[in-house]
Amino acid sequence: MPEKNNLKFETAAVRTQFTTSNAKEHSVPLYLTSSFVYDDAERMRAAFASENDDFIYSRFSNPNSDELVQKMCLLEGAEAGYATASGMAAVFSSFAALCNSGDEILSCRSIFGSTHTVFTKILPKWNIKTNYADANDFANWDKLVTPKTKLLYLETPTNPGVEVLDLEAIGKFCKRHNLIYVVDNCFATPYLQQPIKYGADLVIHSGTKWIDGQGRVVGGVLVGRQDLVNEIYAFCRSTGPAISPFNAWVLSKSLETLAVRMDRHCNNALALAHYLESHALIERVLYPFLKSHPNHAIAKKQMSMGGGIVTMFIKGGLLQGKQFLDAISLCSLTANIGDSRSIVTHPASTTHAKLSAEERAAVGISDNMIRISCGLEHIDDIIADIEQALQASSL
Ligand code: PLP
Repeated sequence: MPEKNNLKFETAAVRTQFTTSNAKEHSVPLYLTSSFVYDDAERMRAAFASENDDFIYSRFSNPNSDELVQKMCLLEGAEAGYATASGMAAVFSSFAALCNSGDEILSCRSIFGSTHTVFTKILPKWNIKTNYADANDFANWDKLVTPKTKLLYLETPTNPGVEVLDLEAIGKFCKRHNLIYVVDNCFATPYLQQPIKYGADLVIHSGTKWIDGQGRVVGGVLVGRQDLVNEIYAFCRSTGPAISPFNAWVLSKSLETLAVRMDRHCNNALALAHYLESHALIERVLYPFLKSHPNHAIAKKQMSMGGGIVTMFIKGGLLQGKQFLDAISLCSLTANIGDSRSIVTHPASTTHAKLSAEERAAVGISDNMIRISCGLEHIDDIIADIEQALQASSL
């Protein structure tokens, strides 16, 4: 058996498993236990003093969450990690653990709506301020760094505009300014892109998306530098955002099929993007692996495929958007992404409704923007549904 670190992605995703019990099970069981027992007082003392790796309590860690974390560390090339109850718990815990009152965060403007709420409504309670940087104005980012800036945060590709940011250039920027470099890698997954290769210190995931891949559980995971993860772990161990053993078990099992699923998601998305690109009822389509995408060259450099999201702008306005959604029949109208079932969403009225109209405009979210999360159905059926809904939208 090769060293674990030398295993190919697909093999590590399948073969990273918690130690087999005396029952010699092939598939790792669910460890539904809140606490763990010890043979004697000395062993228990040593566990609490972190002198051994014994489990203590499932708010701290559990065999199922440990397996998920170890697997994600191998897939992302990270030293350590921690699994949380949701992607947002991973996002919030990272900021709460790493930032102190008076610190500033520099974040890309195009970010998930709830992360924006954390920056603008929650962190200011503890005097942690966020400055936003525009992805297409990288040349001027230096001016946004102050002596208080501690951490840089970004998503790439972004939600829902699928902008692609240059991970390598931003890694060098963070080194120059001595910033903790945090990347939400939810849209790409480690199968398509590994930000740590480009200098990221911490990588965050909403496991709810392509990691689960079937729209069943909510969960999150963060992986990265040992010293940073230690700080986040100490925060989480006492504040309690741990993932449940069941959700960790589902996510770890799901990772076994991530590579094959992502191949299909990405192939379907690219085919749909090509179809829509020349469509008479479409104003514009954005997909990182289309040559017409403004950041196509960067996407090709850092991603192995273009991802599962296609964003399109239909001709007309709110009315046409609404008619399109009402006519959708096969695809689901729901807020999630990364499901085996294709999903269409109207970001302006749902996921990004909490942003003001000006804030939405600043990140390119218009009333005629539709986000499509391409599922695993046959591409012909996905295209047929989108096509009939587009025809209905133009009536
Ligand atoms: N980050 C991104 C890019 C997301 O799209 C989401 C959810 O949609 C999250 C984080 C939050 O994840 P969760 O819903 O698991 O809390």
